[in-house]
Amino acid sequence: MDKFVYLFHEGNGNMRELLGGKGANLAEMTKIGLPVPFGFTITTQACNAYYESGKSIPALVEKQTLDALAALEEKMGKKLGDPKNPLLVSVRSGSVFSMPGMMDTILNLGMNDETVVGMAKLTNNPRFSYDSYRRFIQMFSNVVLEIDTYFFEQFLEETREQKGYYADPEMTAEDWQEVIGGYKEIVKKHTRKDFPQDPKEQLFLAINAVFNSWNNQRAIVYRRLNKIPDHLGTAVNVQSMVFGNMGDDSGTGVAFTRNPSTGEKVLYGEYLINAQGEDVVAGIRTPQPIATLQKEMPGVFQQFADTCHRLEQHYKEMQDIEFTVERGKLFILQTRNGKRTAQAAIRIAVEMEKEGIIDKKSALLRVDPDQLNQLLHRRIDDSAQKTILAKGLPASPGAATGQVVFDADEAEQLGNEGKKVILVSPETTPDDIHGMVASQAILTSRGGMTSHAAVVARGMGKACICGCEALKIDMKGKQFVVGDKVIRHGDIITVDGSTGEIMLGEIPMIDPELSEEFQQLLVWADEERKIGVRANADNPEDARKSFEFGACGIGLCRTEHMFMDLKRIPIVQKMILAENYSERMEALEQLLPMQQGDFEGIFEAMQGFPVTIRLLDPPLHEFLPDKEELLVEVTKLQILEPQSKELKQKELLLKKVRQLDEFNPMLGHRGCRLGMIYPEIYEMQAKAIFYAAAVLAEKGIAVQPEIMIPLVGHVNELKQMRQLVVDAAVSVQEETGKQFDYTIGTMIEIPRAALTADEIAEEADFFSFGTNDLTQTTFGYSRDDAEGKFLQAYIENKVLPDNPFAVLDQDGVGKLVETGVKLGRATKPSLKTGICGEHGGEKSSIDFCYRIGLDYVSCSPYRVPLARLAAAQATIRHESKNEQAVTTA
Ligand code: PEP
Ligand code: MG
Repeated sequence: MDKFVYLFHEGNGNMRELLGGKGANLAEMTKIGLPVPFGFTITTQACNAYYESGKSIPALVEKQTLDALAALEEKMGKKLGDPKNPLLVSVRSGSVFSMPGMMDTILNLGMNDETVVGMAKLTNNPRFSYDSYRRFIQMFSNVVLEIDTYFFEQFLEETREQKGYYADPEMTAEDWQEVIGGYKEIVKKHTRKDFPQDPKEQLFLAINAVFNSWNNQRAIVYRRLNKIPDHLGTAVNVQSMVFGNMGDDSGTGVAFTRNPSTGEKVLYGEYLINAQGEDVVAGIRTPQPIATLQKEMPGVFQQFADTCHRLEQHYKEMQDIEFTVERGKLFILQTRNGKRTAQAAIRIAVEMEKEGIIDKKSALLRVDPDQLNQLLHRRIDDSAQKTILAKGLPASPGAATGQVVFDADEAEQLGNEGKKVILVSPETTPDDIHGMVASQAILTSRGGMTSHAAVVARGMGKACICGCEALKIDMKGKQFVVGDKVIRHGDIITVDGSTGEIMLGEIPMIDPELSEEFQQLLVWADEERKIGVRANADNPEDARKSFEFGACGIGLCRTEHMFMDLKRIPIVQKMILAENYSERMEALEQLLPMQQGDFEGIFEAMQGFPVTIRLLDPPLHEFLPDKEELLVEVTKLQILEPQSKELKQKELLLKKVRQLDEFNPMLGHRGCRLGMIYPEIYEMQAKAIFYAAAVLAEKGIAVQPEIMIPLVGHVNELKQMRQLVVDAAVSVQEETGKQFDYTIGTMIEIPRAALTADEIAEEADFFSFGTNDLTQTTFGYSRDDAEGKFLQAYIENKVLPDNPFAVLDQDGVGKLVETGVKLGRATKPSLKTGICGEHGGEKSSIDFCYRIGLDYVSCSPYRVPLARLAAAQATIRHESKNEQAVTTA
């Protein structure tokens, strides 16, 4: 417990938590005999002890650091500060999780007015020695003394200009001495002290600075974004320097063992001759591609290539390696798992399996399901220049360009003419579907990840950005204002639904591609996973897409979306406005064959897989015109055409809209409550499903309809609705003479339903957890308002870990789901269970669904590949613990 400092050979690769990622890898590389410059690691625990002691290095840590330094000096045969044979070290941060560029690094520590002379003699290279000293002053002053690099850069540039040089390599030893003089003056001016000359003082100041950098602003923000806990602390690595700037037989570089953008198995990287690490990053000189090293230093290249191979075999992962060549001798300074694109991640995982480096399960675990989104949609070319206007919620991935329109009818018209449009609106309603279909993307200023626009766009695989409150949309004036820019109707914008970015003009994009390796990975995923993956799809085309993406059924067909067609909506309105039963029946009879046609198409597309069809769910006012707009029209007509027939009709419509108006429509007359009050609506829908089943039975095509009753809160609701559906089935079977199988189940979307699931299961063949509404009703957050109003702040302030509408709240909502499953299965062990809220396409929620034993998850068609992979990963992660997991879909 009291060991705070480890020499590299005392540690190993499994000590990440204590030594940080970099320290653990340096220890591991030392252990396997690679040429790593010797050094030691001060642990993350020492960092925590530093903070606990009020930001001072505890005596024990100081003592152990000095002991380790002595061991390092002994091993190197050099001493820190020895004018004749000075040891120089680098001091670098190294946290448990990689935080690239977030914390600080100091090179060439140990340089002072004496050692610089010693180094010059020793290396017989004064230019190199003075260059190293001035680099050290610059870096140390910036990181430790907190003097802006700008002052040093400025001075250097002036000196270069004065001397008529173009770049640093032209500077001589004397020139660097002059620069050092100038640098020291800058330090004195800013700190009122001389630049510290005692190397041990330099070392401890540097260690302090690295510990402090754990809590610099950018590190704090990075941790928040990447969910890295604050308490971990950073380790500090002190390592003897090797020099890539000792002449033309020296150099430094970085390389990946495979191409990080395509995954191809070739060494990929670059290097600079006669340079130190920061020169490669700084971009002042253009580095050479690593392949050139083969020509310039064949021996070193071969040794490097062999080391890369060894490291990859050892870590069984693609590595990102930093190296330095000092006078023809290779040193490895760092290795870590390389970051890569989705395409590369897949190719590397599949090829490593084929090469026998990893097995299939490891290959499946190597790819982050979230990354797959990149591959299934068009995306912005990484190298593109872009002007970002604003950022909203990344509600549905993909990128699109088009002209701005504010009206769904116009979007439809222009879209049908082949124009590319982006529909912009404060929010969308089911009324806008036709315009959404015809648009490239949807952009709203209100609403969250489960708002109408988001859900519908995801289902369609269309890009969508929601809740971008920075947009001040003026629907009348047909323009929106964002910051100081006004975007007018017809202007071209680009939106990226994966990042939420809204950009001015047209930005170059890249098309999606489903590589052979991607298909292979998904086949492996299907072999492993023990939880079914279905899709949420409402029409034959989406059903076909779902089937193509590998869905093994439809988990949610929202039938209200079938009512939104331009031809159908007037009939739906007729049904709603009907004054009596027979008028309503007349409208329903017109709707029936239309829905039947859709069901036939969907059943056919799914080729015998189960299809869960939900009866009408939204409050009826969603099918009628907006109350305020209607009021304006009526008022105008009252003034201009008081006797007109149109006024009479509109007044009638307004009356009905007012009747249907509710304070809380999402908690109002919707879901099965519609079927309870207007049973004829559900009866028509049930019959349309069964007629479709009968037609397919006639054609000899298998069907598995699962009729789902939404928003049940009491078993008696389901009991009544179940009877109604059974009666419809019997009547269709008698009328057509055809037999077909079907089941009846319910959505669990209300806490009471989950808590009384044992009673509800008496009447249900299946449960589908509607976690959008269940989240809304459990938290009491409006799913249409919360994200735009307060959820972002809640997440930023860590009140909530995540947006519960996107990532299932396992502790609360999840507990209800688990309770629902347990109680339901206690009554009916054969009860089929699934999830059809948005969480069905989110990896951590899928993991939870697997753990509590759901039979399937259901998500929008474009997320099906992601869900297949996430489901396989859940199985692999937990299979030993959960061998009982259900295998059916
Ligand atoms: C749900 O509530 O989770 C659900 C799937 O239904 P909808 O989003 O249509 O309300
Ligand atoms: Mg719902």
